[in-house]
Amino acid sequence: MSAGKPLPRIPLAGVIGHPVVHSKSPVLFRHWLTAYDLPGHYIHLDIAPADLRDVIRTMPRMGFVGANVTIPHKQQVMDLADQVSDRAIRIGAANTLTFGADGAIHADNTDGYGFLENLRQSAPGWEPAQGMAIVLGAGGAARAVLASLLDAGVPHIMLSNRTSDRAHDLARDFGDRIEVVDWDTIPALLDRGRLVVNTTSLGMSGKSPLTMPLDRLHDGQLVTDLVYVPLRTRLLEEAAARGCATVDGLGMLLHQAVPGFQRWFGTRPAVTAATRKAILA
Ligand code: NAP
Repeated sequence: MSAGKPLPRIPLAGVIGHPVVHSKSPVLFRHWLTAYDLPGHYIHLDIAPADLRDVIRTMPRMGFVGANVTIPHKQQVMDLADQVSDRAIRIGAANTLTFGADGAIHADNTDGYGFLENLRQSAPGWEPAQGMAIVLGAGGAARAVLASLLDAGVPHIMLSNRTSDRAHDLARDFGDRIEVVDWDTIPALLDRGRLVVNTTSLGMSGKSPLTMPLDRLHDGQLVTDLVYVPLRTRLLEEAAARGCATVDGLGMLLHQAVPGFQRWFGTRPAVTAATRKAILA
């Protein structure tokens, strides 16, 4: 072989979890790599917590440009990264790692971004500042939703969780625009939110159903569910039947992947009907 300029490396990326085989991210990233005719590979990386540090320190040397991070590593990677974005610090977890040319690890959280972009794309008339939001749940996903809504200017949030201590913890972390309301009172309050968000796992296939009465929902409200298996949850079906605009959770999953793809492969991918179809297939 003649000496000359070294050939460019094909960029590698993947999703790190344990277990991780269920993740749809490889389908999504491969769909975009093909759609934009870009060189690159994206794979499942099943990494045990004890190996996480060594693995992510080695990945840049192997040609990895970045990685998505899922359960159970979203908190641990914050301690292993060299830089952590402000929004990841605020949310308390990271889902997107980018490796610098010098091997430095940057950690970010794009879940809140994906949540808002999904609503902006799917409910074009809605603006966060228009009115109050009701948020159900106080787990990891709720933190991302609260951070993004507050940053976008939502005036007030009613937050409710089965375990009310967790909701109070979030209210302490996120400030006085959050009002914690009792879980049992939610059905009677559901008419008050311009936006209603389910961030609990209620209604997800294999989990408990969401059984609360939903008859207070009415037209003019926007209702979204982070659960996307099934795509049309009982919450969305009943909200739509009562005249609410509804947005499913699949779009959040797709939009949260956009910043990573752009950073790693150099092209900003669009979330389109074809993207949804690729994932659903
Ligand atoms: P998590 O941290 O485990 O939190 C689970 C939440 O669900 C908690 O608020 C929990 O309440 C509540 N919950 C669970 N079982 C309940 C029950 N029987 N009755 C009432 N509340 C119950 O999980 P997470 O990471 O926040 O994820 C929550 C959901 O969002 C999951 O379905 C996940 O798949 C989905 N999600 C979707 C996306 C997306 O891109 N669309 C992104 C992230 C998450 P307690 O505190 O009382 O236990």
